[in-house]
Amino acid sequence: MSANVDIVVIGGGPAGSAIACLLAQWGHSVRVLTRAADRARGAAESLPPSTRKLLAKIGVLDAIDGAHFYRTTGNTVWWGQREGHVERFAAVAGDALKAVNYGYQVLRPELDRLLLTSAAAAGAEISCDAHVHRVQLTEPDVLDGSGRGADAGVEYHRERQPATTIGCRFAIDCSGRAGVIARQGFRRHQPGYRTQAFIGVWQSASGWNLPDETHTLVETYEDGWAWSVPLSATLRQVGVAVDGGTTRIRRGPTLNGTYRAEIGKTRELGARVSGATLDRVWACDASLFSAHQYAGSQFLLVGDAASCIDPLSSFGVKKALASAWVGAVAVHTCLAHPDRQRIALEFFTNWERQVYCANLRRSVEFAREAYGRAYQADPGNTEAALGLVRRRAWLPLASSGLLTRKAPAAAAALRRRLRARLVLIEALLFPRSARWAAASYGAARQPRSLPCRR
Ligand SMILES: Cc1cc2nc3c(=O)[nH]c(=O)nc-3n(C[C@H](O)[C@H](O)[C@H](O)COP(=O)(O)OP(=O)(O)OC[C@H]3O[C@@H](n4cnc5c(N)ncnc54)[C@H](O)[C@@H]3O)c2cc1C
Repeated sequence: MSANVDIVVIGGGPAGSAIACLLAQWGHSVRVLTRAADRARGAAESLPPSTRKLLAKIGVLDAIDGAHFYRTTGNTVWWGQREGHVERFAAVAGDALKAVNYGYQVLRPELDRLLLTSAAAAGAEISCDAHVHRVQLTEPDVLDGSGRGADAGVEYHRERQPATTIGCRFAIDCSGRAGVIARQGFRRHQPGYRTQAFIGVWQSASGWNLPDETHTLVETYEDGWAWSVPLSATLRQVGVAVDGGTTRIRRGPTLNGTYRAEIGKTRELGARVSGATLDRVWACDASLFSAHQYAGSQFLLVGDAASCIDPLSSFGVKKALASAWVGAVAVHTCLAHPDRQRIALEFFTNWERQVYCANLRRSVEFAREAYGRAYQADPGNTEAALGLVRRRAWLPLASSGLLTRKAPAAAAALRRRLRARLVLIEALLFPRSARWAAASYGAARQPRSLPCRR
């Protein structure tokens, strides 16, 4: 094993590029190992205006502005109700960038390429054809070490080259959902939040009949929620997020058929794409997860590798950039002042935990809002209102008591049914884990304490 760099960053998405960029700027030797982007699955994603502050801190704002991404002034939302609600981005008081109140609609491979280029310009060495298999963590991963420890070994191979191992003081996992280090025993899945996303690329020469064509669109429907991000006035991606737990059994045999069937259930987005051409469709996992440990004496989990929040928030990229910023400060502190390693890693850990909890709570609020509106619109149809929440895979919320303001009796009945079903299935399939199922189900009734507890 060659111990020749301070830091190896695994993954070249927003988190990996940003942390590599910052640590290289601060004088550390940084190697980024990442896989080539799959352009056919290049997602269109919304970046809220507040992301600009982070991009400026990382030193890439000019490059992003110069790339002429489609700019957006807000969202149009049909959330548990038929009338659309237009939300315009507001300038934040006291913000140095308050004159600017637009966000970006980005094609992710384009954004990632720009960010990686900036990391290379800052001095990071980038390998875009590398696949990392695993990381050897040779020290016990506890936060009480001080002084320079042993190196971690990152095992990888590049195209048509034999496998090799590189040594480093810190291995930083920025591999997103893949979670190269995270899956070595640190990842924790959020019970009940199994979400499957289907995404299609649509073209329409005549536009989409919207009050503002730059807007991100969001709509709830009976079996989930749908969204659409434009890349130009005539090109849009439209996605649906459905309950991953029932996707395989309840949905059609082909990807295209399944996707079209879901779009057909939506009211507003279905109408918008009715005269448009569908280019291609793909599916991806969008479930929530976090980690029970975010950092150790040789590693950090950063961005989606640390935790994945509800894509509904449109804060994933911003969170990844912020995670990279805090992670870079922590790693720099560890390398420059080894005696402060423990406090630096705890600072990072607390930040990650708080961000995940705050976003989980926001998801609870979204669910409560959709439920409340659907119930108010049709008080007689409680089942449909609860179905909106349940099928959206917000099952823990339905059982948490947070949705009970409007219809306590119906919510209690649903709670009883869900509890009975879950415990029964667990007991039948995994007799030994029945106790665990009951325990974790109990925990899910208090979502605040579930992932946030130390
Ligand atoms: C359906 C959906 C819609 C979303 N919409 C939005 C949105 O509108 N706005 C928003 O801000 N966020 C959105 N998000 C969230 C956003 O995509 C993520 O939060 C963001 O990509 C996280 O960045 P990251 O750098 O942590 O991880 P990623 O972007 O996932 O980057 C991981 C990198 O690691 C590489 N990699 C993986 N495994 C390996 C390996 N073994 N070896 C080497 N390299 C590897 C990958 O190739 C990739 O380059 C959405 C997510 C989903 C699922």
